[in-house]
Amino acid sequence: MTPVSPGMTIGIVGGGQLGRMLAMAAAQLGYRTHIYAPEASGPAADVSAAWTRGDYEDGEALSRFADSVDVITYEFENVPAAAVSLLAGLGHVQPNAEALRIAQDRLLEKGFVTQLGGRTAPYAEVGHRAALRTAIETVGAPAILKTTRFGYDGKGQVRLQDGASQTLDDAWTQIGGQPSVLEGFVRFEHEFSVLLVRDAAGGIRFWDTPLNVHDAGILATSTVPAPAPVLAQLDEARAIAAKVADALDYVGVLTLEFFCGEEGPIFNEMAPRVHNSGHWTIEGAVTSQFENHIRAICGLPLGSTALVVPAVSMRNLIGDEAHDWRNILSDADSHLHLYGKHEARPGRKMGHVTRLHLERD
Ligand code: AMP
Repeated sequence: MTPVSPGMTIGIVGGGQLGRMLAMAAAQLGYRTHIYAPEASGPAADVSAAWTRGDYEDGEALSRFADSVDVITYEFENVPAAAVSLLAGLGHVQPNAEALRIAQDRLLEKGFVTQLGGRTAPYAEVGHRAALRTAIETVGAPAILKTTRFGYDGKGQVRLQDGASQTLDDAWTQIGGQPSVLEGFVRFEHEFSVLLVRDAAGGIRFWDTPLNVHDAGILATSTVPAPAPVLAQLDEARAIAAKVADALDYVGVLTLEFFCGEEGPIFNEMAPRVHNSGHWTIEGAVTSQFENHIRAICGLPLGSTALVVPAVSMRNLIGDEAHDWRNILSDADSHLHLYGKHEARPGRKMGHVTRLHLERD
């Protein structure tokens, strides 16, 4: 891989908060960033050198974007496959198009991880309403129906308490009749994520694993170190994550989310990008997930992923919680991050707070 040197331009597809934090890490290393997104503006606009507003179907705009940058990455995996293939044909896209194709589709990613020896909750494909009956008989109730593609932050998901026809009808309507996957409901005590970065030569580094707590399908907090039951499953979870990264010849930051199951880690989903559960690495690790992603895709040596304090916690600021910034700043050990979003809608990620703990609790 020819290194992309400081001074060159990194193209980022998607202009949300992950793009913003990637652009800030890139700027620190001396790069310029150019965002491609369908919106007129977004959190990344304030901190990047250029912004192209374009649809993912606009081949000409995508080509111009690819011509103007030295490497392309993405902060958002719901980019239509055709747009990614087009970009991949025009320039250097990392993580590669195959990783994105698999991570975009819940059925493909579960199949991929299972085939490499990972464990998932029982699941069944639901392509049409009639298949939902067969699926619930296979998977059992309670269960969760999730759209195969384009879900995020608990969107595109419906819980089913039983297999009654009315429940199935309601769930199918709520999901909008889209191709879906039905998953058995996992009764877990803990959820965690494996955050890794892989370079082009295949070198992998893991950050410490956070315990993740969700509220209404949205990440609420990530805490490091994770409790003992999570740590007991870490070797197995890391081994499967490394297999996934190697099998995809992955370059950049990769995140795999797991439930702590009775028999071992149960894979939930993966994100081919930097992840909300890794935001604590900005202050809590020697090198943040954002900086190491930029280093990996540009062919620079990776930085250490070690913790800089014994414990770190990250809390998302959702909706109105961001208005509490003055109070948050009154705690001298907390770092406030606001994403510059103008409207604090309910359920919207407006920022996060990372607190460094000088001692383990
Ligand atoms: P996802 O979009 O798949 O990450 O789901 C969002 C959150 O919903 C997860 O982080 C879990 O807290 C919960 N969840 C998702 N799938 C399941 C499942 N099969 N069993 C229990 N809880 C789940």
